[in-house]
Amino acid sequence: MNQQIYLDNAATTQMSDAVKAAMEPYFREKFGNASTGYRYGEEAKQAIEEARELIAETLEAKPSEIFFTSGGTESDNWAVKGIAGAYRNLGSHLITCNIEHHAVLNSCAYLERLGYRVTYLPVDGFGRVSPEEVRQAIAPDTILVTIMFGNNEVGTIEPIWQIGKIAKSEQILFHTDAVQAYGQVPISVRYYPVDLLSASAHKFHGPKGVGFLYVKEGVAIPSFINGGSQESGLRAGTENVPGIVGMGKAAELAHKNMRTRINREIKLRNYLIEKVFREIPRVKLNGHRTMRLPGNTNFCFEGIEGASLLILLEEEGICASGGSACNTGESRTSYVIEALGTEESYAPGTIRLTLSGETTRQEVDLAVDAIKRNVALLRESG
Ligand SMILES: *Cc1c(COP(=O)(O)O)cnc(C)c1O
Repeated sequence: MNQQIYLDNAATTQMSDAVKAAMEPYFREKFGNASTGYRYGEEAKQAIEEARELIAETLEAKPSEIFFTSGGTESDNWAVKGIAGAYRNLGSHLITCNIEHHAVLNSCAYLERLGYRVTYLPVDGFGRVSPEEVRQAIAPDTILVTIMFGNNEVGTIEPIWQIGKIAKSEQILFHTDAVQAYGQVPISVRYYPVDLLSASAHKFHGPKGVGFLYVKEGVAIPSFINGGSQESGLRAGTENVPGIVGMGKAAELAHKNMRTRINREIKLRNYLIEKVFREIPRVKLNGHRTMRLPGNTNFCFEGIEGASLLILLEEEGICASGGSACNTGESRTSYVIEALGTEESYAPGTIRLTLSGETTRQEVDLAVDAIKRNVALLRESG
């Protein structure tokens, strides 16, 4: 394979050099346990608190509202199961939607087995949840609404402000899985009425295995991992110091010149979409044309199998995906594409191409050219 074109930034991103450099001292020289009192421990503790401040700043939150976790999956599990457990005496009904990440969907399924009721709202043809349907789904025993900020497969950005307002007016807690959105678009908790928000470092050029949960002051979330007194006693276990430092650095960098980067990325994304439509017949764009994450594109090509196209692209050094990274190997149509009501002749031919701030126009040109040739090839042979 000569050159690699990485267009799967929704699955994970490459850690930046600056992030790696920021983490490095915490593997060996500064190896202390943050819970100890001497210099090594103080060093680690200080580094953790600096990362907490950096992240809080990006959200316009308080440092005491940021809790470090092992990633997006843990943050989602903690938010959904934690709130469900703590508020059981007030009710046992949750509202979510049918295109959430499995970290939320399977947490909800787990709660259903414990006797909770969960409403899975449908989405429209663009992947949007209707705030009005959220309002109508609210019952006297509803305790939590959880709707993702941006979808990981089709990139649709949900009406988080409107849904948050509704939840707030009904005094129901609102969680958003912002794993795809945090670090990609500006999110302020002063603007968005959210009570809990999940994020993960490896989706914004930070390290894998570390994330955070924002919990608004006053929300009584119970401890999720029981043990020592780390993270205000709510998330026990010796902290992943290098990971937390790396995430803090990645968060800082992601929010530096964010506007410029977003504009550039949206331009390149639109260029990709327009080029695909111009050069390849019988194609559909999945998700919303404008209300979508800056780097996300997701297409359906009529009459082909997305999985076959991905194999041919891989042979040319192009990394893309069929939908979500968690479901590769499954050849059936993704539940997200199904939820959008995509026609049967188009749905199997789904591929997702997700850009990063580093993706170049030349890479996009090469990728579209390869897609064009291979779609034609598959259509001829099919
Ligand atoms: C990646 C992702 C997750 C899981 O995060 P991890 O840190 O990989 O566990 C959860 N939700 C969404 C929307 C994601 O894209």
